[in-house]
Amino acid sequence: MKKHNFSAGPSILSQFTIENTAKAILDFNGSGLSILEISHRSKDFIAVVDEATALFKELLQIPEGYSVLFLQGGASLQFAQVPYNLLNKKAAYLDTGVWASKAIKEAKLFGEVTVVASSKDRNYAYIPKDFKVPEDVDYLHITTNNTIYGTELHKDLNVKVPLVADMSSDIFSRPVDVSKYAIIYGGAQKNLAPAGVTFVIIKNDILGKVDRPIPSMMNYQIHIENESMFNTPPCIAIYSALQTLKWYKEQGGVAAMYALNLKKAEILYAEIERNKMFRGTVEKAEDRSIMNVCFVMDEAYKDKEEDFSKFASAAGMVGLKGHRSVGGFRASIYNAMPLESVQALVNCMKEFEAKA
Ligand SMILES: *Cc1c(COP(=O)(O)O)cnc(C)c1O
Repeated sequence: MKKHNFSAGPSILSQFTIENTAKAILDFNGSGLSILEISHRSKDFIAVVDEATALFKELLQIPEGYSVLFLQGGASLQFAQVPYNLLNKKAAYLDTGVWASKAIKEAKLFGEVTVVASSKDRNYAYIPKDFKVPEDVDYLHITTNNTIYGTELHKDLNVKVPLVADMSSDIFSRPVDVSKYAIIYGGAQKNLAPAGVTFVIIKNDILGKVDRPIPSMMNYQIHIENESMFNTPPCIAIYSALQTLKWYKEQGGVAAMYALNLKKAEILYAEIERNKMFRGTVEKAEDRSIMNVCFVMDEAYKDKEEDFSKFASAAGMVGLKGHRSVGGFRASIYNAMPLESVQALVNCMKEFEAKA
């Protein structure tokens, strides 16, 4: 039976990515060797990093003066690496969920942290809007898509201080004006590659302003100078990322992914609203994520949750269980998810309602 993979992360990748990665594991570029067993400094592998970097820049229209890095440690290490490199005295953070609060916790190790707004009061079911950013902070940190709660900041903020964004779960899902950001980072395992590689887009002139000594592996400047090759990079994850980037380009780039993502989100949210058995958990339509769609059983049908779970699994749906802090269901409909899979979920919800 066809499986529809709604997992939150690691999550669905394009068939193109998976097949080409499998081929390179068996025989990389006709070399008779696996990509798993060659030097990261070989000519063929350096070409992989160069092409992935170039495609990142092309697809996101990254302006001059920015670098793209492929690092390790996940978004979670970036929670510390960002303040290590940028926080001199004070930083501002927008608290929109578990990941944002983890970033805040790490930043506090390096200086004063001002939380400009938080939606914790209502279990992060909305994005705070009217907040003021102090002008004396070294940067403002935001999480553009809150993977766990299904909320998303859909616009690039205009702020007077350097803007840093965790885009782990919405990178390449919509056009972004990179020039508005000092740093954009994320773990690759939601929209790009298997786990193991972390992307960082960084404005070069933001660096060199903190007084503390920075260990080499934590130092963005060192990684920029070494073009992501200061030490052995996660070769296979970078190779997979390159395949996904090629696939994005073939699909028509970020604009095409965005159009498809809007359509997928629209039909799923429409069904959640129409179907009397379900209800969305995000308070306002404008804050709803187009990547992670969170919903629960309506009060009157609370006892049907387990039934729907089984019904959906029997129809080939995978990874629909909501995060424990929200409960219910979460359909992660990342870039690689085809419209047909979302349609299959919608049909499944309709059928469940009809038989109830
Ligand atoms: C998954 C996720 C993380 C954690 O990423 P790791 O690579 O596991 O450290 C951080 N932020 C967001 C928004 C995420 O979705």
